[in-house]
Amino acid sequence: MIYRDRVAQGRRARNEKPAEMAGAQAPEAQAQAAPAISRIQPIAHGPSLFEAAERVENDTLPRISEDLGECTRCKLHRQRNRIVFGAGNPHAELVFVGEGPGHDEDVQGLPFVGRAGQLLTQMIQAMGVTRDDVYICNVVKCRPPENRAPEKDEVATCMPFLLRQLTAIGPKVIVCLGTVAVQALLGTNKGISHFRGQWLDFRGARLMATYHPAYLLRNPHAKPEVWADLKKVMAELGLKPRR
Ligand code: SF4
Repeated sequence: MIYRDRVAQGRRARNEKPAEMAGAQAPEAQAQAAPAISRIQPIAHGPSLFEAAERVENDTLPRISEDLGECTRCKLHRQRNRIVFGAGNPHAELVFVGEGPGHDEDVQGLPFVGRAGQLLTQMIQAMGVTRDDVYICNVVKCRPPENRAPEKDEVATCMPFLLRQLTAIGPKVIVCLGTVAVQALLGTNKGISHFRGQWLDFRGARLMATYHPAYLLRNPHAKPEVWADLKKVMAELGLKPRR
């Protein structure tokens, strides 16, 4: 069964209409969906620093967005325009996790809509799916000033919401885009080169780390390595490359 058929079957099982863009931008649409099936998984391997993060039974993306509110929990709220909660299929088998919003994302309130986002969109389409088939989010939901990397306290403060999102979605595969994402999810200080291209376990999902699209814009010679990583993801999910 191909990816979209599986996702559609999941929707039918939940008696849901297709939810093309789920997240902070459309909480009403999500709220109309049937309650999500509880998919809370035991931690398969526990390298995360955030194992004590709050776990909410029968959690949903609208509920998480509501709990987040107009968040001021860390200092990143001071200069943001909009919280970038995440977007895509709330029952996606494939989730991409980036670092944090940039300028365009901060303006639009949507993840990966700038130049790096356009490249990510091309990568997703090359995998034979669309942005609406997957879910895209970031480690921190507010833009760090001057596009600096988020600091440890900011990551630690925002991380419980990402973990709740991942639990609510229940993806088969999580793709970490760049060092910040892999360090945050695995609770490590090691760089992405230690993990890139290898399958790792994360809370019952399979995790693949690869380079961030922004890195590829600066280093296009690394594109074949990323494509090799994405082909492993495609094989895992039974995806066929777009012709
Ligand atoms: Fe809240 Fe996360 Fe934004 Fe910090 S980055 S203010 S924790 S939403």
